[in-house]
Amino acid sequence: MQLPRTLLPLLASAALLTACGQTANYTADTDNFDSVYQNISQEDLKLHTKVLASDEFEGRSPTTAGETKTLEYLVSNFKALGYEPGNGNSFLQAVELMEITADPDMVMTIGENTLNYKEDMVASSKRETTQVNLSDSELVFVGYGVNAPEYNWNDYEGLDVKGKTVVILVNDPGFENPDSGKFQGKTMTYYGRWSYKYEEASRQGAEGAIIVHETAPASYGWSVVANSWSGAQYSLVSKNGNADRVAVEGWITLDMAQKVFSDAGKDFAQEKANALKGPYNTALGLNASVTINSTLKKSVSNNVIATLPGSERADEHIIYTAHWDHLGTDMSKEGDHVYNGAHDNATGTAASIVMAKAFAELDQRPARSITFLVVTAEEQGLLGSLYYAEHPIIPLDKTVANLNMDAMNVLGKTKDVAVVGMGKSELETYLGTAVQKQGRFLTQEPRPEAGYYYRSDHFSFAKVGVPALYAKGGSEPIDEETANYRKRANVIVTGCYHQVCDQFRENWDFGGVQEDTQMFFDVGYQIANSNNWPKWNSTSEFQR
Ligand SMILES: [Zn+2]
Repeated sequence: MQLPRTLLPLLASAALLTACGQTANYTADTDNFDSVYQNISQEDLKLHTKVLASDEFEGRSPTTAGETKTLEYLVSNFKALGYEPGNGNSFLQAVELMEITADPDMVMTIGENTLNYKEDMVASSKRETTQVNLSDSELVFVGYGVNAPEYNWNDYEGLDVKGKTVVILVNDPGFENPDSGKFQGKTMTYYGRWSYKYEEASRQGAEGAIIVHETAPASYGWSVVANSWSGAQYSLVSKNGNADRVAVEGWITLDMAQKVFSDAGKDFAQEKANALKGPYNTALGLNASVTINSTLKKSVSNNVIATLPGSERADEHIIYTAHWDHLGTDMSKEGDHVYNGAHDNATGTAASIVMAKAFAELDQRPARSITFLVVTAEEQGLLGSLYYAEHPIIPLDKTVANLNMDAMNVLGKTKDVAVVGMGKSELETYLGTAVQKQGRFLTQEPRPEAGYYYRSDHFSFAKVGVPALYAKGGSEPIDEETANYRKRANVIVTGCYHQVCDQFRENWDFGGVQEDTQMFFDVGYQIANSNNWPKWNSTSEFQR
């Protein structure tokens, strides 16, 4: 059910009244921070999540009617809360997208094998052209496809891959042998991300790049690959039409890779072992062919940007990010065909609105400005935040910090808070203070091998040097009841990642979302009232 828009200002003012009522308990000079903090409610978070994840929002796909509804909802909320447009007199930043839809009627051949679309492989092209081909392109296995001088590792050493198609393992060499001292052990480096693999193959001049899917090192199953890499694919409109990208970007299943390697007279497991030992490549002696016909459409999606100007240094901003978009609808699906994206990321979007309300309720505005940047096209490769980072509205050297909320914790309250990519910046000091106040403690994220630091919008800020923080409730439930709930809910949350069943559930425990929203509010509040400029730690790859 959608919240009638006319109710919004009423809700906001009702909450303001409550906040004012409670400030009586505090002396004038302490501000009403504590009462505002307490006012961040599960009900509000639930309400916005439910609306954003309803079928009426059609899975919030960029450039669709679902986007129009989402933007209206966000802008009307920020307006009602007294926020100023973040982009001149507009709450929107237009993001030019190139939508490329590959015709699913494609077949790839490798040697004697015919690979069926979505069953054995997916393939698409980022080149802005209606047809690309691999025509008997020689296959070369390039191990992890990594060229990392700082790790003294180059899988492309001595290789000319022009016109060829490279076959690449997912993740990085630290994953399988965390104790080997290679890369960052189990913690995935950017070299482990699929986006890096295609970028590097492009730099090397390859014609095609195919990643071998394996569930553990990818951290998601084949169905996620098949769903995410088929249908309309978006990229930012590029000056050269992405002519410098590999023509074909694909994935194949592990089964198919084993078959192909065996046809090549090689054993996949042995080849992988070789690739783990050190930089590695070997020709497979097989050729790949595929023709991809694509339809191209330029379209415009939007980031939402809203600011609460600071009371002393309004030109300095704390930027909160959350992505509003999800995967839309798939009419070819029987039964439920809406990817509601309740957890991913109606929760973070809802938290933005609720936190915006909290900042607006403060008697005294923070010294620095608070900006909410609710971005588009995250699911398509962090495009909205990437566009923002390339076209910043607030100068980057006036952007003090980025705090990101994506897929909030609906598994109940926790004793711990997991920092994604722990040890990267001084922002963790502020986080530590906020977390301690809640009687919680900081931990390393439970699965650093999944590379979550590179999988949400704070990464776009990190890449351009702005200290960025991504953290959420960890894996230790506060009590037995929560532990039991967590076990049940986790099956659904994990199993429904990027599936139509990622739906709002009335029985979801929003206690965890609430405490994390309070925590982020506290962190932003601290930094906004500080004179400090948090820095990257010297060991971080973003320091440079
Ligand atoms: Zn997602």
